[in-house]
Amino acid sequence: MNKSIKGMNIVWLSKTGLTNLNAGEGEANLVDIKKYKRNGREYPYVSGQAMRYYIKEAMRRNLNLGEFMCIPDAQGETCADIEKCIACDLFGFMSTIKRGTKLPTFPEGHPGGAYTRVSPVKVSPAVGLLPFDENCVVDFLTRRKPQEVAGERMGDIVNVEIGTNIYKCGLAIDLVRVGKEEDWTGEALRFKEIVEEKGRVGRVKKVLEAIKFLTDYSKQARLLTDFTPDVICIAFQDKYSHRLQKLFEFEDGEKINTRRLKQILDDVKEYSERILFGMISGVVENEEELKGIFESYGIETKTPAEVLKEAMGFIC
Ligand SMILES: [Zn+2]
Repeated sequence: MNKSIKGMNIVWLSKTGLTNLNAGEGEANLVDIKKYKRNGREYPYVSGQAMRYYIKEAMRRNLNLGEFMCIPDAQGETCADIEKCIACDLFGFMSTIKRGTKLPTFPEGHPGGAYTRVSPVKVSPAVGLLPFDENCVVDFLTRRKPQEVAGERMGDIVNVEIGTNIYKCGLAIDLVRVGKEEDWTGEALRFKEIVEEKGRVGRVKKVLEAIKFLTDYSKQARLLTDFTPDVICIAFQDKYSHRLQKLFEFEDGEKINTRRLKQILDDVKEYSERILFGMISGVVENEEELKGIFESYGIETKTPAEVLKEAMGFIC
């Protein structure tokens, strides 16, 4: 991994068909959509917790032989073995460890008690950019009770809110901390390597691959959805910052605010070794203008799949 790269930022837009990606509290016979309000209008969102789950599940589906991600137990406790477990390394944990448990980070045995790790992979909630009321419908389904006798059609009617939208999603990786533990034994903060370089690069690649293969959202049996990036920007930064997350903002319907875009690119390019941009057609209204702006920064517009592949090559 290029030693000067400290952080990687990814921001993307995904346009969905009619779906309900993350249900809210609901009522007895209503499966609603999680929503936030801005200036009195409602917009849908998918929680950061759900986004982390989708990414983890996509990674789990694509594990190679010998790669491991633990499954939290009934209390939500994970294995806390960051050498062996890709999930604990990348997504952190808050575990209670039994006294004397030997871990790569505690070769003499853990003293017992709380052991936490801050997640090197950070995700934002997926934020719907179009008002909910203009892009939704309430559908219904019949929910059968398990004890019902086959043939007796008795289930109750459940209303399901579904909507189309364009969501903005974000992810940042604190590359300095992947496969490493903070070491405070000296005068300054150092990092102890737990996973060797090749393994660390492999883990970061797995996250990029997961974004390309996100699938395990809720309610897919009836609401099959693609939630992978349609418009994406990735920056490899020699400073750890989340600034790139403000790159995409809509104005005038589904046009990207290009003044904002340029301002953010001007900021981020100062500390980025490489910025990549990908887009498929039919998502934002000012496609050509967008391509032109990125070109003026020396960034060629590719497809999101090409950009993710290039990013995987760049971190080697
Ligand atoms: Zn684990």
